[in-house]
This record gives sequence, structure tokens and C-alpha cells, in this order.
Amino acid sequence: MTLLNLEHIAASYGASRALFDVSLTVEEGEVVALMGRNGMGKTTTVKAICRMIPATGTLLFDGTDISALPSYRVARLGVGLVPEGRRCFADLTVTENLIAAARKGPWDMARVTALFPRLAERQSQRAKTLSGGEQQMLAIGRALMTNPRLLVLDEATEGLAPIIRQEIWAAIAKLKTETGMAILVIDKSMAELRQVCDRATILERGASVWTGTMAALTPDISERLIGV
Ligand code: ATP
Repeated sequence: MTLLNLEHIAASYGASRALFDVSLTVEEGEVVALMGRNGMGKTTTVKAICRMIPATGTLLFDGTDISALPSYRVARLGVGLVPEGRRCFADLTVTENLIAAARKGPWDMARVTALFPRLAERQSQRAKTLSGGEQQMLAIGRALMTNPRLLVLDEATEGLAPIIRQEIWAAIAKLKTETGMAILVIDKSMAELRQVCDRATILERGASVWTGTMAALTPDISERLIGV
């Protein structure tokens, strides 16, 4: 069952076109990497999915045409975004941040803090006093509290200490194996992407130019299209 389906998506920032032709799918239970060098359109693709910028082309979530829906409706349908740069409510506590995002479903405070025990330790601290890694965990926790059917992670490990990155990757792996959550992930760590993802789609200058299984993503292809 295809959960997310993008076909021939194009999008612009004002007069400047960022996406020309992006096609990509995420099946139920699948973890897909969205890859490509800097500035190739990964974040813009995420913004198009979440309807934060207008786009043309086919945009289906669980078979529903979401191409004209407002962002909040897309979120309500089950797209949980962890945006680039985290974005928690700085002056709210960890608990308040999580509660503000809550919607009915299996993910609640107890389950989120079991996944990220650091959040339990910091529950009455304001978000702005957390370390970068803890804020990232809170951002993921907030997305999980919405009980998404698709989790979208945009650079969730960027700029974090190696030990914290490991914790976040372990959590992503757990989400995959223990809950079968569908995940679309943008990240620069090739080794971890290879371990966790089922498939990848690679963008080059606003177009999807390659898609396939992680096993099919040879060093030759990744060198040529991603530069690693
Ligand atoms: P990165 O890894 O650097 O975040 P990316 O693959 O996510 O790269 P995007 O951020 O989607 O790339 O950028 C795609 C193109 O759109 C780039 O040419 C970028 O300069 C341009 N762009 C991104 N955001 C804006 C904006 N707010 N206004 C105008 N142009 C933008």
C-alpha cells in the first residue's frame, strides 16, 4: 500500500524555480531516504509535501489528493514533520511542548519518554534550556505525539555530537522495527542511512534522478550523485 505518492512535482520560490520534476513514493512500513547534494531540493520537497509552499503535480497521501489542502489538514491526515532546525516552543516546558502536539493514538507522553528517556529527565525544563540534541529529541517527540502515519525527518542529526546522533538513529531504527512506522528521512550520514533505510530517492537540481533499494545504491552512484 502506497502511503505517499509524489509524481512530477514542481515548485518555486517566487520567480525562482526550486523543483522541476520530483517523483517519489513511500510505502506503508517503509523507510525511505531523500538524498542529494546541498541545494538540490530536499527541504523544498518536504515543504511541498507539508503544503508549506505551493506545488504542481500529483501529491497523494494514502490515496487522498492533498495538493490543495492547507498544512494543518495534511498534518491531521497523518504527516508528522520534524522540520530542519527543530522548532520547539522555546518558552514552554518539555511536557507542555509534547502535550501541545498531542492527538489521539498509541503515542503519548509515556511512550515518547520511553523512546527518549532524556526527555523524561528534563520534563519540567523549558525547551530553550535543553541541549541541541535534547531539542531534536523533543522535536521528534512532538511529531510522534501527533500520531503520524508518516514521519518526515529533515536533517534530524545535523550538528549534533556523535553520541546524540547515535541515540537518534537508534530511536529511528526502533520506530522502524518495533512499530513499522513509515519514515521519509533526509540526512547526511550515509552509513546510518544505509543501515536503516529500505530505499532511496536522489535529487539533482530539483529533479528525482535515481530511485532504488539501498543495496542497489552502489558507491559509484552515490559518488556521482551525492558526492559521498
Ligand atoms: P540543503 O541540504 O542545503 O538544505 P536541499 O537539498 O534541502 O539543500 P533546498 O533547501 O530544498 O535544498 O533548496 C533548493 C533550492 O531552492 C536551492 O537552490 C535554494 O537556494 C532554493 N531555496 C531554498 N529555500 C529558498 C527560499 N526560501 N527562497 C528562495 N530560494 C530558496
